[in-house]
Amino acid sequence: MSYLDKTIVELHELLLKKEVTPLLLAKEAIEKAKKDPNNAFETIVEKEALEFASSLKECEEDNLLWGIPFVCKDNISTKDILTTASSEILKDYVPVFDAEVIRKLKDKKCVLIGKTTLDELAMGGTGTTGHKGVTYNPYDPSKTCMIGGSSCGSCASVAASIVPFSLGSDTGDSIRKPASYGGLVGYKPTWGKISRYGLFPFAPSLDHVGFFTRSIEDGAILLNALQGYDPKDGSSLKDHDEDNLKNLKNGVNGIKICVFKEIIDSINDKVILDAFNKSIDNLRSKGANVNIISFPKELLNAIYPTYMVISCAEATSNNANLDGIKFGPRGEGNTYQEVMMNSRTKGFSELIKRRFVIGSYSLFKENQEELFLRAQKARHLIVNKVNEVFEKYDIIYSPCVSKARNPIKGGIDDKLSSTYLIAENHLAIGNFGGYPSLSLPIGMDDGFPFDANLTGRVFEDSLVFQVGYALEETLGYKNLSIEKVVK
Ligand code: GLN
Repeated sequence: MSYLDKTIVELHELLLKKEVTPLLLAKEAIEKAKKDPNNAFETIVEKEALEFASSLKECEEDNLLWGIPFVCKDNISTKDILTTASSEILKDYVPVFDAEVIRKLKDKKCVLIGKTTLDELAMGGTGTTGHKGVTYNPYDPSKTCMIGGSSCGSCASVAASIVPFSLGSDTGDSIRKPASYGGLVGYKPTWGKISRYGLFPFAPSLDHVGFFTRSIEDGAILLNALQGYDPKDGSSLKDHDEDNLKNLKNGVNGIKICVFKEIIDSINDKVILDAFNKSIDNLRSKGANVNIISFPKELLNAIYPTYMVISCAEATSNNANLDGIKFGPRGEGNTYQEVMMNSRTKGFSELIKRRFVIGSYSLFKENQEELFLRAQKARHLIVNKVNEVFEKYDIIYSPCVSKARNPIKGGIDDKLSSTYLIAENHLAIGNFGGYPSLSLPIGMDDGFPFDANLTGRVFEDSLVFQVGYALEETLGYKNLSIEKVVK
């Protein structure tokens, strides 16, 4: 019998009744992880997981996470456990401390099963650029369509029912977009709400730690456990914790939701549009006010270039320590420059090198004004305009992707098309403004799931979950996983 296609809430009931034990759950998860056909794992921590799970004897009634197995993206530090960020340059790196999110989950007695693959250093969105090669979409037996990234392994392992939840990171959309290809709930918090201590920095002004679950309620439970001020993280928020379960079931009556017409116009796929429109009808039938409004197209078109300049510049500076001396296998050479050059030439893939070139170029003194500072200004313009929208509306609602099946090879060719610039990249709005942002499944296209996204005002994470819960109730895609869909 399989237990791991159940939600955290369902598993908690079974653990309370002693129908199952943490050890049994950990064993099942490890067995599945070992047989995983999707290349979702960097490391399986069998010994530690089994030891910890066997030490858990009496289920804590008020701790819904007690004994629940989970996996974690491999750019989040785990003490004494290999943490590679799916990069050759960190292939032997073993942190000496736990990230704050890992510490918190251990405190809750969650059992870490393994570390999952990502696009190298969390840069990228395809699930194909990690040093272990392509991570596959569990929904795609032909292995030709992407699971997305960069949190590809964390998404694939929840979608494949290996664990009921996983940790990821999101700098542009790296949780919320793969969540769509995997039919999961994917969430990133208000910037500062969940500690990033122990997350490998990619672009800290945009980076968030978040998670994948198979239900909205499970997400609210996790947020309750993971939120909170952390003095070890300089950007951590004080006094903004809420009980995210309290208002979860209060419905959407009177909630003001808007949809940007320009995002809808940039999507051609009828299945996505029909499901999205149906979900709007559902929200309206529950009492929400949903309006289609216009948002300046030039600002939407600017999201991707702005994101690339800012994220690459920050990434170049933050990854300067990966030089083969402080971290990574040491390359040949007699001077610091030679060692660094040889280590980095071998240690990084093409994509990373390209991004460092873009980053360095925009940070050159001569180019800073024209590129880096202009990108900062564009970010401000976008955020200011979104904040104006939030004066009138509680939630911005949108489809997450332009199509459910996105081929690994030969995807969207025209990178200047609205489909690419807007439909495929608008989720970065959530990172620009640090807004809470949640994706949840709204439909299936011939066996492939897809999500829509709810983004709210900063600090209003629990309202985003409340709206997500009401929507989930009307749609019938709760607790989707490959074991349920493909029998
Ligand atoms: N797809 C985006 C990128 O290529 C997002 C990455 C992320 O959120 N970590 O960088």
